[in-house]
Amino acid sequence: MKLILLGAPGAGKGTQATRLADIYQIPHISTGDIFRANLKEETELGLKAKAYMDQGLLVPDELTIDLVMDRLSKDDCKNGYILDGFPRTLAQASALDALVDIDAAVDVEVPDENIVRRMAGRRVCPKCGEPYHTEYKVPAKEGICDRCGSELIIRKDDEPETVLKRLTVYHDQTAPLIGHYQQAGKLVAVDGTKSVEAVTEEITKALDK
Ligand code: AMP
Repeated sequence: MKLILLGAPGAGKGTQATRLADIYQIPHISTGDIFRANLKEETELGLKAKAYMDQGLLVPDELTIDLVMDRLSKDDCKNGYILDGFPRTLAQASALDALVDIDAAVDVEVPDENIVRRMAGRRVCPKCGEPYHTEYKVPAKEGICDRCGSELIIRKDDEPETVLKRLTVYHDQTAPLIGHYQQAGKLVAVDGTKSVEAVTEEITKALDK
């Protein structure tokens, strides 16, 4: 199964991708996670990507496309994969179309008002990367990571101004992909405002048809 997850930043793509990867036993490939890992290791790619990520902008296509194409050529992708956060532009979608015939593009739909509220509550552990939320995933001790005891932070690109920028970028550059996959007969739209479990169920029901 080759899947794409579409949706605004904060729509819950990452959460759903993790669950679907487990259900279908295929790798979860998140371009955001790959960039963040590169940033942490201060690789050349990470340093190049940082300037864009910090401002809520997309990393240029020429850096992103090669990275994903390389990842998809690895052995563990033979039986499929879930792409989370890629493609994000029509150029990225065309590059992917030229390489593979995906089974479905799942659009996790969440209105902008909900996105802003959700992202305002996001926290992350700077040491082990564990994600938290002030409403949906509260740590046992306020502001402290349950796993490693570090003080939680707000990711730079989750700061309010950057969130608004990321939403504008999403509507301008990524939302047109919904029409692209609809035309190709691949679009599966789900209501992302429901509970995590209900959204997963809606997706798997649609995919299993
Ligand atoms: P995410 O965790 O998916 O929200 O990604 C975090 C940031 O990484 C985005 O705001 C972009 O700066 C960058 N990024 C992730 N995926 C892509 C992509 N497919 N194309 C360009 N930039 C990306």
